[in-house]
Amino acid sequence: MSDSTIFDRIINKEIPADILYEDDKALAFKDINPQAPVHFLVIPKQRIVTANDINEDNAELVGHLYVIAAKLAKQLGFDQDGYRAVMNCNPDGGQTVYHIHLHVLAGKAMGWPPYQDKLKV
Ligand code: AMP
Repeated sequence: MSDSTIFDRIINKEIPADILYEDDKALAFKDINPQAPVHFLVIPKQRIVTANDINEDNAELVGHLYVIAAKLAKQLGFDQDGYRAVMNCNPDGGQTVYHIHLHVLAGKAMGWPPYQDKLKV
């Protein structure tokens, strides 16, 4: 497992991103490959590798990501229509960047269930 990901380069402003929100603990920016009319990521600046690494010590930071998502939903005007906030974990969850991030998707009605293939079990 490498020490850093592309998200560290975004946090450090080494590569550009379309930043929607930033504070000392977190950052929100538009996804480069949007899967909905609105698609942005909310990430902690401190790296947490996967959702499996969420625990009592970082729970407040992870909760902060949801607070930012809710604030941006209001600010961008899709809070009432609704949205999906999801965190993919490891290969079966579809995780490709190993620095946790909340995907916030909006602007159309989301399908459910989220998978297209047959159930694994
Ligand atoms: P996941 O597959 O859940 O790990 O999500 C990773 C997300 O990061 C994908 O939706 C990518 O499109 C997005 N992504 C990767 N590189 C960048 C980048 N440089 N700027 C913005 N989004 C990115």
